[in-house]
Amino acid sequence: MKKRAYIALLLMPWLASCEPKNQSTPEARDQSLHFADSLLALMSLEEKVGQMTNLSLMALAKGEFWDRRDTVILDTAKMRLYLDQHKVGSIQNLGTYPFSPEEWRQNIDLIQDYVTKNTEHNIPVLYGIDAVHGANYSAGSTLLPHQINLAAARSRSVAEEMGRITSYEMRASGIAWNYAPVLDVTKKPLWGRTFETFGEDTYIASELGVAMIKGAGCDSLRSSYSSLACLKHFIGYGAPHNGKDRAAVYLPERIMRQDYLPPFQRAIEAGALTVMASSNSMNGVASHADKALLTDLLKDELGFEGFVISDWNDIDNLVSTHQVAANEREAVKISVNAGLDMCMEPYDASFSEHLIDLVNEGEVPMERIDDAVQRILLVKHKIGLFDQLQSDPDDYPLYGSATFAEAGRRAAVESMTLLKNENDHLPLSKNEKILLTGVGSHSINYLNGAWSRTWSGQDTTFNDREKLTIKEAMEKEIGEERVLWAAGTTYDENVNTERAVNLASQANQIVVVLAELPATEKPSDIDELDFPKAQVNLVKELAKTGKPMTLVLLEGRPRLIREMEPLAESILVAYLPGNEGGLAIADVLFGDENPSGKLPFTYPKYSGAIWSYDHVKADARDKGFGFEAYDPQYPFGHGLSYTDFTYSSLTAEDTLYMGDTLTVSVTVANTGRRAGKETVELYTSDLTASIVPKVAQLKRFEKISLNAGDSQVVTFQLTKEHFGFVNLKNEWVTEQGEFKLNIDELEKIFFLKGEKDET
Ligand code: BGC
Repeated sequence: MKKRAYIALLLMPWLASCEPKNQSTPEARDQSLHFADSLLALMSLEEKVGQMTNLSLMALAKGEFWDRRDTVILDTAKMRLYLDQHKVGSIQNLGTYPFSPEEWRQNIDLIQDYVTKNTEHNIPVLYGIDAVHGANYSAGSTLLPHQINLAAARSRSVAEEMGRITSYEMRASGIAWNYAPVLDVTKKPLWGRTFETFGEDTYIASELGVAMIKGAGCDSLRSSYSSLACLKHFIGYGAPHNGKDRAAVYLPERIMRQDYLPPFQRAIEAGALTVMASSNSMNGVASHADKALLTDLLKDELGFEGFVISDWNDIDNLVSTHQVAANEREAVKISVNAGLDMCMEPYDASFSEHLIDLVNEGEVPMERIDDAVQRILLVKHKIGLFDQLQSDPDDYPLYGSATFAEAGRRAAVESMTLLKNENDHLPLSKNEKILLTGVGSHSINYLNGAWSRTWSGQDTTFNDREKLTIKEAMEKEIGEERVLWAAGTTYDENVNTERAVNLASQANQIVVVLAELPATEKPSDIDELDFPKAQVNLVKELAKTGKPMTLVLLEGRPRLIREMEPLAESILVAYLPGNEGGLAIADVLFGDENPSGKLPFTYPKYSGAIWSYDHVKADARDKGFGFEAYDPQYPFGHGLSYTDFTYSSLTAEDTLYMGDTLTVSVTVANTGRRAGKETVELYTSDLTASIVPKVAQLKRFEKISLNAGDSQVVTFQLTKEHFGFVNLKNEWVTEQGEFKLNIDELEKIFFLKGEKDET
């Protein structure tokens, strides 16, 4: 134990800054390319196509694919079939139960050992997994807050740290490829995967996406602490027209490029090497069959050198769901010719059989196969897979450590968003007697949501017993005798609302934890945005007691609170804060921590009035013909603190000439009574443009810490690019004219003019 603690201390500097060993230099790239080409020249068609196949681990295990397992035993006959005969080059995921790091290593080592001994060119298998909030499929790993929390935290350093910890714990489990981050921008609150994203804003998604992959080590890929990012889902997945997962997307190319593409572009520029295609169709074209997207845009225009993997079974879906291919063979042909490099099969190797036939029949050109395999080998080489099959398990003393848990708690704290705090109701005194109730009040699963030990996150069998629910954390902070508890409801049914109401008479404060059912993908579809009636009813009944009430919301998307909002003195959104969420929430409720999260989405008031903050002015036209219709429950960026921040002195030049830089500064003062953090956000508005402009766009943000009484000048630099938009020719342009800058309540108008010497 002592030795572990000592090593942990030695590694602390590593946590602060991971030493970059740059694999993105032109020399390193040429070396990898040379390696890939030399190997490619030796490979048979079967081997090449095998490299393009990504199979699920369940396909290699004894038993039926979907058997509910509590142990995985690799099946030698299946290994022979898939690894030897079909020469499969990539395996992925589990998600039915969590392996320990040792089990992961044993299984992956067995597979690597098998391929290196039994295949002609000994090409190691690339193992991929969804580690979307920490290494969530490894037992005992640190379950961190989800991406939506990181977006609320608005902190690049926090996002980077989360990327770093995830990567470390994946590598401790012998896994180097992460199907994350999710860079889908979403302005559809109904969509059940909102919690996996950075919310509705393009700039936040771009900045935090880059921070996460930097933390994961995208510029030091051979380090045994780094992991390979897979950007998903390319593209428009977050814009299903009816809010349902995988539903059709209708986005004009102009909007797709302007609002949805930049996070991908930025991450690719930062060195991301794999991209996952998106399950949906866009404007009638299934993404997996879309050459304009996968080849023309992603590879040719953005210069993406890595490889594109399909999403789960999505080549088959070209037949069964999108109906753009008559059979699987045709689907494989369309998809590979469109630019897909690797197929997440995941059940068997029929993809590779069809592809071999298609190449032999001249329906898929050999150059396309070579291009795909070159990309795959390039990536495998860049991450050091060929010479680093095993990293030492002892190199990961911080796995599941208190150090990482504390980082998770801090990140969760930074994300807590205080929506309402009437008469400084929060923080609560530790001397209060509290009635705690609600479905999320005593559950680890509701804190973590989906992708937590299991795919759905609902199975309680694999919860980390030592982690604290909100109830346990509150009891720890103020003593068991001060916390009265009754579940109140399940997700959608009354359990003992009456008992909760009765208990309220013995309490002087009520805390209700409303929550969403852990779910992702199709199971996360909902038909109404309201919280279930049982939960709303609990709040209404408790309100009748007249006791002051706090609502805590564990939710991955903004569920409507219109009817409950007036009944509560204070409301805190905790999103899906992870395993340390119970502690983080208690810390904020009792004032040990000061909340500093800002909403990463616009919080709607009505399900028939869905807004994003960056709408156009006409959307806000009201019945009286004014522009007052934009009336969300809470606006994007809203979030209170226990202290007060006062903004003053917004300054900037009156004119920005194209080619110059505009320096914007503002003074932020902590005018309250305690230290706090504040995200300073700079919005811009184009006042007249040739294309209907958005009312506002976030262009810069910076999170600062201020002690009570202190102030700081925050400065942002902007260039003409920040005032651009995509025009009808789908090109970025910046037009001259009048613009407005906006920070907090302060505004400043300036003029954007042509080059200085032209004017
Ligand atoms: C999801 C992806 C995920 C993949 C592998 C798909 O169903 O859409 O986000 O990476 O499964 O688990």
